[in-house]
Amino acid sequence: MTNSMTSLKLLVNKRDRKIVFAEVNKDFVDFLFYILTLPIGAITKLFAKEPLAGSLGDLYQSIENLNDMYVLQSKTKDTVLNPKSSTNVPGQDLLLVPKDLPPVDRKFYKCAYHCKYVTDDPKGVCPGCRNSMSYEVAYVSTEAAKDTVNEVGFVKGVVTYMVMDDLVVKPMSTISTITLLNKLSIKDVCVLEEKEVQFGMEEGLKLPKASLVCKNVLTRVFLDSEDHLEII
Ligand SMILES: [Zn+2]
Repeated sequence: MTNSMTSLKLLVNKRDRKIVFAEVNKDFVDFLFYILTLPIGAITKLFAKEPLAGSLGDLYQSIENLNDMYVLQSKTKDTVLNPKSSTNVPGQDLLLVPKDLPPVDRKFYKCAYHCKYVTDDPKGVCPGCRNSMSYEVAYVSTEAAKDTVNEVGFVKGVVTYMVMDDLVVKPMSTISTITLLNKLSIKDVCVLEEKEVQFGMEEGLKLPKASLVCKNVLTRVFLDSEDHLEII
C-alpha cells in the first residue's frame, strides 16, 4: 500500500476556514464506515502513544500488565490487546488493524457417507458412522453467495459521495449541495474555494481520533496545519 490511499476534493469556505463538504469516492466512504466496525480495543491500541481522554487507555494497560497466570488457559491476552477486524476494505491498512481470516479460507471436512456432521479437523471421527472425516467440503460464505461481482467494502462505486465536516455521508447531488449552501447562509460563492488533498497514513490516523472528540472533523484533519489534536 502506498502512502496515499485516495484523494478527495474539498469545498472550503475561505472566510471562516471551514470545510463545507468533501467530494469523495467509494474508497473514502468505505474507510469511514470501516471505523465503525473496529473493536474498541483496536481503537484504544491505535492511540496508545497519545491516549484519548477517558479511561480506556488505563483499562488496556491493565490487561497488558496482568500476569498470564490469571488468564484462562483457553484464552490469550492477545485476543483483547490485538483484536482482529473481519471487514475487508482497501484503506484498512492505514490503521494497521490485523485482518481476521475470512471463513472462505477455512477448510471443513466430513465423512464419506450421508451423516450430517462437519469438522475443521481433517483427522476427525464421524459421530454418526465412526468413519474418518477426511473429505473436504467447500464453504460458501453468505457474502460470496450473494455477491456475484465480489466488490469489497460497503458502498457501491458508481456514484460520488459527499461527506460533511461532521462526517455525515450521502450520495452527491446538486440539490443537496444547494440546500447545504443555503442552510449555511453562504450567499456569496466567491468565499468558496476548491482544494484537492491526499488521504494517507497521517490523515487516516487523525480522522478516527478527531471523530471521537469533535464535530468539525474534516476541517481539523485537512486544514489545521498545527496539530490541534495533540492538546485535546
Ligand atoms: Zn458419518
